[in-house]
Amino acid sequence: MKYYILFGPPGAGKGTHSGAISEKYNLKHISTGELLRAEIAAGTELGQKAKSLISVGALVPDEVVEGMIENAFDTIKGVDGFLLDGFPRTLAQAEALDAILAKRGESVTAVVSIMIPDELIYKRIEGRALIEGRADDADRSIIKHRIDTYHSQTEPLIAFYKEQGKYYEVDVTGETIEENRQRVLKLMETIE
Ligand code: AMP
Repeated sequence: MKYYILFGPPGAGKGTHSGAISEKYNLKHISTGELLRAEIAAGTELGQKAKSLISVGALVPDEVVEGMIENAFDTIKGVDGFLLDGFPRTLAQAEALDAILAKRGESVTAVVSIMIPDELIYKRIEGRALIEGRADDADRSIIKHRIDTYHSQTEPLIAFYKEQGKYYEVDVTGETIEENRQRVLKLMETIE
């Protein structure tokens, strides 16, 4: 099985490009953010707890998302691998992922990192807010908190995966979504 991580700051386009990648490589796309929003929509206890954190742009506890990922690995069949989107977001999650995969005799295949500068994040997220209506996209101070959280908690994962020789980066500041998608797909072709 392949285990790809689609990495990047909020608003870089992880969700946008995940469809084309998972289709091409027969992967199951797993977005922890989407799973959490589904829990909120369903009104579950987990969703209620997550809502107050998500609405201020804070991360939910590591164990919550780690459990979701392990559950997905246990239950989803019939694919050649997984495309993780929005997970891992902390070093503790990255280490937990390694442990979860090691138990199965597997390991992370590659980290595909899609990069845009902070100024562009605001522009893209504010555009997305008009289309998707996510509450955490609508407020500049919440977006700023998510970007700060990305820099402080998630960016250290770059060094972690570089050290393992699994880190691949692509610039997605192109003008159109299609141009950026082609850049991501081209990068993926270079990964063994
Ligand atoms: P996303 O859709 O990936 O932007 O995620 C939306 C929100 O869900 C984030 O701002 C966090 O509050 C929460 N979330 C998603 N994935 C994780 C994760 N791996 N660890 C902690 N919180 C997460």
